[in-house]
Amino acid sequence: MKFTDLGLDAAILRAVADQGYDTPTPIQAQAIPVVLARRDLMAAAQTGTGKTAGFVLPMLQLLSQDGNLSIKRFKPRALVLAPTRELAIQVQESVKTYGKHLKLRSTPIFGGVGIGPQTRILKAGVDIVVATPGRLLDHVNQRGIDLSGIEILVLDEADRMLDMGFIRDIRKILSLLPKKKQSLLFSATFSDEIRGLATGLLDNPASVEV
Ligand code: AMP
Repeated sequence: MKFTDLGLDAAILRAVADQGYDTPTPIQAQAIPVVLARRDLMAAAQTGTGKTAGFVLPMLQLLSQDGNLSIKRFKPRALVLAPTRELAIQVQESVKTYGKHLKLRSTPIFGGVGIGPQTRILKAGVDIVVATPGRLLDHVNQRGIDLSGIEILVLDEADRMLDMGFIRDIRKILSLLPKKKQSLLFSATFSDEIRGLATGLLDNPASVEV
């Protein structure tokens, strides 16, 4: 199995090749075709498995093939929720790396730093926001972000987000998203609480386990 067998566009394959990767990891080989087919996904994957590219590559492709680089002020098209600032930064770095031949704009959003610079970036318009839940809600409360245009949602390391007490924040955020969207949930473990979250969120999801 090669990256070229997964249905990814040339611009994305070029960015993957630039990284020196030619063989997808098991989670990538399973997740990428599912996401490209616009299905919801429930994925059991630890960190270190290549899960990030497993959702970033097909997400970039779907956003770029739909073409309307609307870049509307405050209105992103894709949202990745992550438990920590470090992970949000790391995922957004992957978005930049794999999207370097595309025209999509992205930004990380996390707490512990001034909110003003983040607000200015959101105002200028981004396609993809990679955020920690608490700071994202701060932007919502300041009307610095409009989540009504979200087409793709990713919950990354969902178990860690719940362990860190983000369940209320996550439920609040989910309540602000359009009903019709594609949702991907990644978690290392599957507690009853994660399953409950998945049941409410995912529509006939494909299940992937590595
Ligand atoms: P992740 O599990 O997403 O945190 O990725 C773990 C590490 O594997 C990261 O440093 C990636 O750059 C690297 N990686 C991701 N996909 C591949 C691949 N197909 N081949 C080799 N390394 C990869």
